[in-house]
Amino acid sequence: MDTTVGAALRTPRRPVNLPTARVPRGRVLVIPARCKACNYCIEFCPQDVLVASADGNAKGYHYPEVAAGKEESCVHCQFCALVCPEMAIFTVPADAPAVGGG
Ligand code: SF4
Ligand code: SF4
Repeated sequence: MDTTVGAALRTPRRPVNLPTARVPRGRVLVIPARCKACNYCIEFCPQDVLVASADGNAKGYHYPEVAAGKEESCVHCQFCALVCPEMAIFTVPADAPAVGGG
């Protein structure tokens, strides 16, 4: 058995709960009127969930929206909400009830 440091570094580390780990899923909520189209949320999303919308808000800014085919890709890491200077985007757990109970 190879017990060198090099062998230890080559051994992939695995979380002990890997078999039961559940990847969180999120739902993206955008407040278009607040958006200034800085694109921070789009650039920082590790899952490439977001793109600039074709539509603009009343000031002409192209707010983010979920990209086609990425509807199930948000992992609710909340980086987008963290970097947004306008508090125009946030996420909730995918299984959270809709706002207003609808
Ligand atoms: S919560 Fe994370 S994965 Fe989901 S859209 Fe925001 S940055 Fe992307
Ligand atoms: S980070 Fe905020 S202000 Fe910037 S594009 Fe995203 S939602 Fe708009």
